[in-house]
Amino acid sequence: MTSDSRMAIFDLDLPALEKELQAMAMPRFRAKQIFQWLFEKRVNTFDAMTNISLPERAGLAERFTIFTGEIVRRQQASDGTEKVLLRWPGGGLTETVMIPCDDDYTDESGRTLVAHRRTACLSTQVGCPVGCAFCASGLLGFKANLSVGQVIEQAVRLTHQLEPERRLTNIVFMGMGEPLANFEVTVAAVKRLMAPAALGISGRKITVSTVGLPPQIRRLAEVGVPVTLAISLHAPNDELRKQIIPWAQAIAIEEIVAAGQYYFQTTGRELTLEYIMLDGLNTLREHADQLAGIAKRLRANVNLIYYNEVPDLPFRRPSGQVMLAFQTQLRSRGVNVHVRQSRGRDIAAACGQLARQDRLDAVAPPAGPSNDVPRTPAKVP
Ligand code: SF4
Repeated sequence: MTSDSRMAIFDLDLPALEKELQAMAMPRFRAKQIFQWLFEKRVNTFDAMTNISLPERAGLAERFTIFTGEIVRRQQASDGTEKVLLRWPGGGLTETVMIPCDDDYTDESGRTLVAHRRTACLSTQVGCPVGCAFCASGLLGFKANLSVGQVIEQAVRLTHQLEPERRLTNIVFMGMGEPLANFEVTVAAVKRLMAPAALGISGRKITVSTVGLPPQIRRLAEVGVPVTLAISLHAPNDELRKQIIPWAQAIAIEEIVAAGQYYFQTTGRELTLEYIMLDGLNTLREHADQLAGIAKRLRANVNLIYYNEVPDLPFRRPSGQVMLAFQTQLRSRGVNVHVRQSRGRDIAAACGQLARQDRLDAVAPPAGPSNDVPRTPAKVP
């Protein structure tokens, strides 16, 4: 339910909506029509659903609401990355990002074609309970879990920004929050995003990112959603990891590796290790060697990510040379490794930056560390 007591329609899957409609004396097939309007034709109102009778549309508007979040800010970076700041009932802010990528590729007959990837980066929580030392979301503290409908709503909001002939092709759960700390919602949202009657996105094009919660990684392996698992390692040994990720105090890398191996054995899906490069802190040659050892045990690909600097935090973005040297060292150890450009740098696209900026804007000047919620990470679930 939303604050106005109507039911949020994106909280329902197709069978649940069919049931609701039956209770309203409407035919079941209307549910499919409504989903088509919402997910394919991208309408904002029940009134726009013109193959549904007027009295039925009025009944729907009385019973359901479509969007529960309000768009507070929308920004587009010079590279096309779009960021949407949403305010939910109760005041919580989250960020949702669309990353466009038009890549040339050559098909079997030698023709050059363009792949239009449109990736949505979704949030699962308001703030984040992990509290990583380098992250703007961590600075916000943990506020609340999002609902399934609120996760789906973010993706749908982004489809409204797309050119009519484009669709979302990829989903990454890499926005605000730790997806596996909101486990049931994340899994239900993945299923909903995959459903042909909704967005119909292949599980292989969905990536769930986690700081590494071993019991939840094992559970995810067993729920039958074939997503790519991305483990945010960010440090190649426990000592260093504890300095930048508070939950590493309770979870050793060895436990994460064991859970990751279980995930691979159970699902057959390759893993990715995400590694934010923090200049001088985790970017030394010995770190590359340690990371290579972990990647090989997990048969994981490694993504090296340029750090997006956050005002008031002491971490720095490394130079291209540092990135290249680290990548070369990993390659020399036989690791499949890519450098990820940070997209949307000019709009503070690192997770949590826009929400934090919005909060700081709302707080009396001067904005600075004293205005931040103390970094008090929550207990590991
Ligand atoms: S990096 Fe991810 S896990 Fe860490 S505080 Fe930020 S959102 Fe949470």
